Order: sequence, then C-alpha cells, then structure tokens
Amino acid sequence: MTKGAVIVGASHAGVQAAASLRQSGYQEPITLLSAEHDLPYHRPPLSKAFLLGEKTADQLQLRSEAFYRDQGIDLRLGQCATAIDPAARRVETDAHRFEYGSLILATGSRARDLPVPGAGLEGVYTLRSLAEARALKPALDAAASIVVIGGGFIGLEVAASVAKNGKSVRVVEAAPRLLARSVPQQVADFLADYHASRGARLSFSQSVEAIEGDGARVTGVRLANGETIAADLVVVGVGGLANTELAEAAGLALEAGGIRVDEHGRTNAPGIYAVGDCASFDNPFAGAVVRLESVQNAVDQAKAAAGHIAGRQAPLAAVPWFWTDQYDLKLQMAGVGRSGAEEILRGDPADAAWSLLHLDNGRLVACFSVNRAADHMASRKLIATGVMLDRLAAADPSVPLMRTVSEPDLRAAAQ
Ligand SMILES: Cc1cc2nc3c(=O)[nH]c(=O)nc-3n(C[C@H](O)[C@H](O)[C@H](O)COP(=O)(O)OP(=O)(O)OC[C@H]3O[C@@H](n4cnc5c(N)ncnc54)[C@H](O)[C@@H]3O)c2cc1C
Repeated sequence: MTKGAVIVGASHAGVQAAASLRQSGYQEPITLLSAEHDLPYHRPPLSKAFLLGEKTADQLQLRSEAFYRDQGIDLRLGQCATAIDPAARRVETDAHRFEYGSLILATGSRARDLPVPGAGLEGVYTLRSLAEARALKPALDAAASIVVIGGGFIGLEVAASVAKNGKSVRVVEAAPRLLARSVPQQVADFLADYHASRGARLSFSQSVEAIEGDGARVTGVRLANGETIAADLVVVGVGGLANTELAEAAGLALEAGGIRVDEHGRTNAPGIYAVGDCASFDNPFAGAVVRLESVQNAVDQAKAAAGHIAGRQAPLAAVPWFWTDQYDLKLQMAGVGRSGAEEILRGDPADAAWSLLHLDNGRLVACFSVNRAADHMASRKLIATGVMLDRLAAADPSVPLMRTVSEPDLRAAAQ
C-alpha cells in the first residue's frame, strides 16, 4: 500500500516526472512502475548510435541506479500496471496494489502493427525498446538484404544506420513522399536525395501486400504492384500508437489518439495526470489538440505535471521541437509547420547546411534546420515570442536569425 505519487511508465516522461517532483520539494513517497526490465534509458539512440555500435546499452541510461535510491524513488522494474480504480485512487499490477494521492500516466507509445500476411515471420522486426534493439542489432549485422517498411523518422534512421554500415537497404513508403505529416516537401525531397546518394533505395506510393517467407523465415516483401523485393531482414516502422488502454478502461477522456490533458497534464479524473507520448493536449503552437511523440514534449509535460502536483503552477507553454540524425545530417525542427505558410530558405541545400522557415503573417511559426543548430536554437525563442521577421535578412544565412527581427522585438525575444 502506497500513498504519495505513483507513476506508470519509466521512460523520458515518467523518470522526468519523478525527478521534477523531488526537485520541486515533494516529500511524499514516489513509486515508479516500469513494464520493462532495463534501467530507464534514452530511446532516441536505439535507431542511431546503438545500432551503429557507437554506444552500448549501459551508456544509454537516463539516470544511474543510485539516483533512484538517493532520491527515494521506488523504481519497480518489470511491473506492468493492469488496472486503475479512480474512485478508490488505486493502481494494480499482477502482484501488488498501490494507493495514490496523485497518479501520473507516462505509458508512452508502441509500434503500430502492419496488418499484412507474414508480419509475424522470423526476421521481421519493430524498434521501440532496448530489448528490441538488442535483438535487431546482431540480426542486422548478419543480414545481407534489408527492407525497411515506412519512411518515417525511425525507418529512415534505421536505413541510414544500415547504409552507413555498408549494407544494401530498400525503403518502401506508401505515401508519395517522405514524412508527409512532419516536414515540408523541400525537406522531404532533400532527405530522399541524401539517402539515395548514399546507396539506399527508396520507393514511394508503394503499399505492402504481404511479407513472404519460406515457412518460418522472411524471404521478401511483396508490393501491391506485384514486385517482390528479396529480403532476409525486414524492419517495420509504420508509426506509433499511444498506450491508452489503462486510461480508457478507467473511463478517462481520450482525444486525438491520446489521453486528453490540460496545460498542467491533468486528465478529467481528479488526481490523475498523463504526460508524454500517451497524452494529447490543446497545443497553442499547433492550434489544435495533438499528441506529440518527442523527448522534448515528454520532458516538458512531465515538468508541468510534477510542478502542479508539488503546488507550483507552471503550465506547459513550450515550443515543440524534435531532432533526427541520419548519416552526417542533424535535422532539427522547431514549432509546427503548416501547409500554405510562406517559406524562406536560408542557405544552400547543396551545402547540406540550411534552414527552411515557415512564416505566418510575417511571424516565424516553424523552422526546419539541417546542420544549422544556431538557427534551431534561435527559432525556438522567436517562435515563442511571435516576433515579426525581416524577410530579406532572414533569407541571408550569414545574418544570425536573432538579428532578423526589429530591435524592440529582439530585446523582447532575448528576455
Ligand atoms: C527508435 C526511436 C528513436 C527515436 N528518436 C527520437 C529522436 O531522435 N528525437 C526525439 O525527440 N524523439 C525520438 N523518439 C521518440 C521518443 O523516444 C519518445 O517521444 C519518448 O520516448 C516518449 O517518452 P515517454 O516516456 O512518453 O514514452 P515511452 O518512451 O514510450 O515510454 C513509455 C514506458 O511506459 C511503459 N509502460 C507502458 N504501459 C505500462 C504499464 N501499464 N505499466 C508499466 N509500464 C508501462 C513502457 O514499457 C515504456 O517503458 C524516438 C523513439 C524511438 C522508438
């Protein structure tokens, strides 16, 4: 039996919530339940440095084991919450019951299944967890022909890691271009060309009809156009689904594929919060209720919820941002791009260091930067303050982005 805070899910959002509660002076017990058996770890390197062999599992830990002990955070690995009783303020696992004063759901998201025959064959992988990455890495090292289904961020990062290791990789994307919901056409085209120039083959507007095998093991991927691509390993990266089942069974409100929360991370049930990949909220920068899958969002929402529980009002007001590493490219995105926005290009894509700005009535609303970290950092401030940009200056990559606004606005933005 436990009072205090119970956190379900111990990844970027759950661990941050626990740490922020303690930083805010919260003195009651904190129980952190993790369905996984590994110490909580950084998820983004799984498709990058870990697959490339540049980082080991031990180097991915979010916090050392001692951190949880020293902070009085009761981390329970391998314990999956199975039910919530909001009226009794109780969470159950198979083995225990925990009573809570505050409950934080940080259950994250999982890989979406590909609903085609053969998806369960040996040699077909998804990549979300360290356990999956541990299985995938040696299999990739041993494979000769690899197909990635889905040209989203995870699929592209895996493809880049594979191509960087000198292997043949084919990416099959159902849409006419890459990353249609996340980046503008110019960024997508640049990435597609970059992959192609490094040996990856990309096919667009191709849906997968079946994954073929010789009994148990995968041998290829059959497309709707009749082509069969030979493969001895397939990675399926067709998006994520929020883990909302616990919340739904407890009667919590859902929206936009996630658990609906306000700017403090509060759900519609008293004392229950939801943060990170599993939560949806009315994001002022998107102008809609959205569910974001990013480390930034997980961390910032967790801080807001922890602050609220600890009695501090620190509503979430962060500009959304995200990054992806592919080959020697770091693509960073700030704000939320919108179709029909005015676009300004800073720099030459041929140099592999450039930014694309999205303006709405002269105000910066999104910035997509390739190997231009300073633009990314400046854009987060400029988007937050909603200042007007001087279009001519903004198009000149030699002018720092912070200098492309009028002086009074600049002073306001810098504060
Ligand atoms: C391969 C990969 C690469 C990525 N790269 C980037 C990147 O470059 N940049 C970026 O910003 N983001 C990236 N992301 C996304 C980022 O990792 C997620 O947005 C982030 O991990 C979300 O954190 P979270 O804590 O909300 O959820 P998750 O990280 O999904 O963690 C949720 C945790 O809750 C556990 N859980 C679920 N249900 C229960 C239950 N009932 N009981 C107990 N535990 C439960 C799960 O097992 C999991 O451990 C990447 C993701 C992946 C998979």
